[in-house]
Amino acid sequence: MIKLSNAASGRHFLQIPGPTNVPERVLRAIDNPTIDHRGPEFGAIGRKALAGMKTIFKATEGHAIIFPASGTGAWEAALVNTLSPGDKVLMFETGHFATLWRKMAGKLGLEVEFVEGDWRHGVDPAAVEAKLTADKGHAYKAVMVVHNETSTGCTTRVGEVRKAMDRAKHPALLMVDTISSLGSIDYRHDEWGVDVCVAGSQKGLMLPPGLSFNAVSKKALEASKTAKLTKSFWAWDEMIAANANGYFPYTPATNLLYGLCEAIDMLHEEGLDNVFARHDRHAEATRRAARAWGLEILCLEPKEYSSALTALLMPAGHDADKFRKAVLDAFDMSLGQGLSKVAGKVFRIGHLGSFNDLMLMGTLAGVEMGLTLANVPHKKGGVDAAMAYLAETAGKKPVAAAAQ
Ligand SMILES: *Cc1c(COP(=O)(O)O)cnc(C)c1O
Repeated sequence: MIKLSNAASGRHFLQIPGPTNVPERVLRAIDNPTIDHRGPEFGAIGRKALAGMKTIFKATEGHAIIFPASGTGAWEAALVNTLSPGDKVLMFETGHFATLWRKMAGKLGLEVEFVEGDWRHGVDPAAVEAKLTADKGHAYKAVMVVHNETSTGCTTRVGEVRKAMDRAKHPALLMVDTISSLGSIDYRHDEWGVDVCVAGSQKGLMLPPGLSFNAVSKKALEASKTAKLTKSFWAWDEMIAANANGYFPYTPATNLLYGLCEAIDMLHEEGLDNVFARHDRHAEATRRAARAWGLEILCLEPKEYSSALTALLMPAGHDADKFRKAVLDAFDMSLGQGLSKVAGKVFRIGHLGSFNDLMLMGTLAGVEMGLTLANVPHKKGGVDAAMAYLAETAGKKPVAAAAQ
């Protein structure tokens, strides 16, 4: 075993917005012998994982696809299976991850219209409607949005984007990155008419990194029959053919699939609506702490606040990474760094995945103590504000999360 620097006593606090803390049940499921992925027992595991993922996506028709890859692989699969060289696509600069997906689309030979953004909002449904209404010739083949922009803590209201596309009567495919929202923030593949969803294992699904997913609508599957971008490893057709009996065209990540089956069971035992309400409540407690500290929340639009993470701006002249280092050194807690445009200016508190009230209180206490240690100007009382809110709302039947 490689010796980790954080060989401290007790458990490390992994409060980055992915990878997230892996629960014991999932770790124990993964810790089983690897079996023959072409043998008689494997099919049942594959079928359970594939059917289970459809329940998490809220997809009844179409297909769930599982790749042994990080989320980036499933981004690529979404594009290469549905589009052809030179196709025009519409994307929005909501933050770092939208920018990376856009770069990938360009490298693959797509013509991307990238609508600029300020990294403090989700995608504006009205902007989608305006762009598509103006596109009388239906040049755009796809609209791509990131549901939860992990670099900013802003969400996009996917249901409203769908309505905007419908009002514009535009036939473009809708593709959504839910890598850091699936299993944390309500997502409805069928109801929102999403054609391709992209997800990953290491965030709300509470697994280690290494699996990624597509949910594929009938319309996307139809598009895949004529799409001309080059593909091999990512090809859906061979995958879907092998999946029919729960098998895969190449070696799957067998042990991660054990973990995935366990994680899906855990999400359903808690109830998806309760999982979403738990994330909403922890996010609200975190924002109350931030306001008490006098730190600014990066996301400017309350109805776009992320329930998976909160990104906070440092006071001018203070380096977020120095603060994060102080917290790691003193309290063995990892907080998320600011990415690209907001590097050094922002830190991110991940409150997604396998998480509970006291883990959140430990997290916020680490932040508040770290602010003192790193001499960051702030007011006291953030932990108290969060604690008061958690105590007030503890034990109440969680309300269903509002449709995003
Ligand atoms: C983490 C993340 C990615 C990248 O996924 P990898 O597993 O690192 O390839 C993409 N999009 C979003 C929204 C993410 O949170």
